[in-house]
Amino acid sequence: MFKYTKITASLGPKSESHAIITKMARAGVNLFRINFSHDTGATQGKKIDMIRDVSRELKTPLAVIVDLQGPKHRIGNFATEDKYKLTVGQRFVFDSNETPGDSSRVCLPHPDVIASLHAGDRILLNDGKLEMRVDRTEPTKIIATVIRGNEIWSRRGFNLPDTFIDTCVLTDKDKADLEYAITKKPDFVAVSFVQSAADIDYVRDFINARTSHKIKIIAKIERPHAVHDIDNIVAAADGIMIARGDLAVEMPYEQVPAISRHIIRLCRQMNRPVIVATQMLASLVDGEFPTRAEISDVANASYLRADSTMTSEETTIGINPVNAIQTMSRILTYADMDGIANPNDWTRVEHVPENNWSRSVASMAHLNNASAIIVFDRDGIATTEISCRRPDMPIVAVCNDETVANHLCLCRGVFPICDTETFGRRDETMAAKIFGIKIGDVVVVDDGTISLRGL
Ligand code: PEP
Repeated sequence: MFKYTKITASLGPKSESHAIITKMARAGVNLFRINFSHDTGATQGKKIDMIRDVSRELKTPLAVIVDLQGPKHRIGNFATEDKYKLTVGQRFVFDSNETPGDSSRVCLPHPDVIASLHAGDRILLNDGKLEMRVDRTEPTKIIATVIRGNEIWSRRGFNLPDTFIDTCVLTDKDKADLEYAITKKPDFVAVSFVQSAADIDYVRDFINARTSHKIKIIAKIERPHAVHDIDNIVAAADGIMIARGDLAVEMPYEQVPAISRHIIRLCRQMNRPVIVATQMLASLVDGEFPTRAEISDVANASYLRADSTMTSEETTIGINPVNAIQTMSRILTYADMDGIANPNDWTRVEHVPENNWSRSVASMAHLNNASAIIVFDRDGIATTEISCRRPDMPIVAVCNDETVANHLCLCRGVFPICDTETFGRRDETMAAKIFGIKIGDVVVVDDGTISLRGL
């Protein structure tokens, strides 16, 4: 039994210790996500050091994802109360006046947002429970009417599903965080609130101007504008996170499963790994058992052949982060194996040409009932492509570079090994032994050559 679908675990107050990280890695985590929305600088750096220590101790590649906060905008403070209840039909004003607000107005301390809003645009607060529509705009003011009443809270974030915000994808905080993070050599940087492929190019230039270390970029898809530009964003990024939390606020929530299916399929076609994120096992934040719907959600990500699922609050503030990972691992392992035993037609359809080399590797492995595909891989590109064909057998990637092995932690069905000797000797018998296969045929891929070898 193998777990093919990777697990990305978010770290937070309940999991930021060497002991818990070790237990979570043993329970099935492949990538750890460090959320720079909370804390910055050295505090976050210590977590990266801890993950690297655990990886060395367990002798297993573990990847680090630095997740930048991005342009998440917030309203200002209220003068007396912390919150007000706004009712349908009421007028409400957002302005650039920094004095604390009341039940009729509040400061919106982002001139770029005020400049980007137009009459008719929706403003969502309180996770979409409070909805307003812009009546008219002035240079320093937005006049809106409440469409769906609810509470408005001091300093809370808001969503603007209809508005392309003319702003840099990296805020000043993100730039400072990224400058620091680069010194810690993370494997991935996740970029929040991406609106176009140009945002990814901007972040790549920012990173490349500061380091030659290979940091892969994950685009978080959480805005309608990103969904509309998805083909170009997938092409520009190294991986995708379907950030269903904000996505389900900014898009009609009933569309989120269809969008997720589309993105997973597109990523497979374009050889990019994809993470399905948010509220997968939300009941485990304060409980011991997942709901039936959560079990199905995690299993579904496996059946759709996503590369990774993700935990959020389950492992950041949940009562038992290790139980959350054990639960997710159990569900994924069963679904991964069942998906192979009982394939579902559409997940197998490949939209790459039949003479595509990675498709040939997968076909050769299937036709010969191979126990594994073993790839000697210097840069991870071949393994990533083969993984996107979703072969039924494990892909053992032998690397001679820790960063490459860490990058491959995100690819479905890939078991990366960083072993300079095995790599240097191109020793598939040794690679198979390290992985735990002793007999059978394996397909070996090495620098463009594909061969079938018996163990
Ligand atoms: C999400 O919105 O689903 C998400 C992953 O974003 P955040 O970084 O806010 O957790």
